[in-house]
Amino acid sequence: MTTERIPQLKDFSAASLDAAFAALEAEARSEAAALATPGAVEAFRLEWLGRKQGRLNEISSLWLKSAPAEAKKLLGQRFNALKTAVEGLLDAALGAGPSNASLAAEAIDITLPGTRRLMGAEHPIIKTLNEIVGVFQALGYSVGVGPEVETDFYNFESMNFPPGHPARDTQDTLVIANQERRPLRDRLLLRTHTSPVQMRTMEQHAPPVRIVIPGKVHRNDAADATHSPIFHQVEGLCVDTNVTFSDLKGTLDHAMKALFGSAVKTRFFPSFFPFTEPSADVQISCIFCGGKGCRKCKHSGWIELLGCGMVDPAVFAFAAEKQPAYDSRKISGFAFGMGVERIAMMKYGVSEIGQFYSGEMKFLNQFA
Ligand SMILES: [Zn+2]
Repeated sequence: MTTERIPQLKDFSAASLDAAFAALEAEARSEAAALATPGAVEAFRLEWLGRKQGRLNEISSLWLKSAPAEAKKLLGQRFNALKTAVEGLLDAALGAGPSNASLAAEAIDITLPGTRRLMGAEHPIIKTLNEIVGVFQALGYSVGVGPEVETDFYNFESMNFPPGHPARDTQDTLVIANQERRPLRDRLLLRTHTSPVQMRTMEQHAPPVRIVIPGKVHRNDAADATHSPIFHQVEGLCVDTNVTFSDLKGTLDHAMKALFGSAVKTRFFPSFFPFTEPSADVQISCIFCGGKGCRKCKHSGWIELLGCGMVDPAVFAFAAEKQPAYDSRKISGFAFGMGVERIAMMKYGVSEIGQFYSGEMKFLNQFA
């Protein structure tokens, strides 16, 4: 029995009851004032209000049951008052949260340095991509985007990749599984370049068109220092009457000067792409040595940076199926494309492409 926690009552007079209940309430108040932890508050609740072992329950069974009939009313009133007081103390302990004692323990030292919130910043790839796009927007180009899961038609056929072209090989292209029953042109793949958006744009808009296309592309490439199976491209397309190769050269020369500085020179070499004829590779004078020759440019003084060319009439013929105004006898155009990672690596002196995707804060903080 725990009767020692409940004092013996000498008699059931009002004065005796008042004294006994006042002592219990004082005890409860002093205990409640010292409650410092949630665990202590719960122990307090069990001690006083617990259904089986609680002191109020014991008072009820020891005093109320043994009281003479004429004292039961006086006793009951005081019992209820004590119960209300203890419940109030418990509510206060629960609601007020930590007591003074625990607040003192958790007190904040306002002389300590604060917790610094990190400012967000553009990822170097997005930053570079936006810079490139911005150069062409300033020339009046609008921005086009398209799906990353493409059909063979938009990714290859309409871009004049002949059947059997090595780029169609699954060793280079990531294809969606279980497409064999579909006609080749409807089969889905992860786009290997942003060029499909050129065709999608021409199908929607008659010439003139000036569009710059930023986006993510996918190739089944093993990752190494300069390759990643996912990377970013910016392509451009300009179609109008009397667009010439001189316009292409002037546009790209301006863009490279805007991106790398006005001292940069450009030069064009014959190349091959299925969707342009003639095609060219563009080199810029080495931004590290100014053209004198260094390790970065393999002592040539030049760095190859992008591909371009005049839009092949075969590509216009696909566009003309939906927009007859793409008649290669009346209009002409040029297209170009560049890898964003390659440009970002050059601009920021990054030697491992994988660092861009590592999520490593030490690396990314340098660009913030
Ligand atoms: Zn160099």
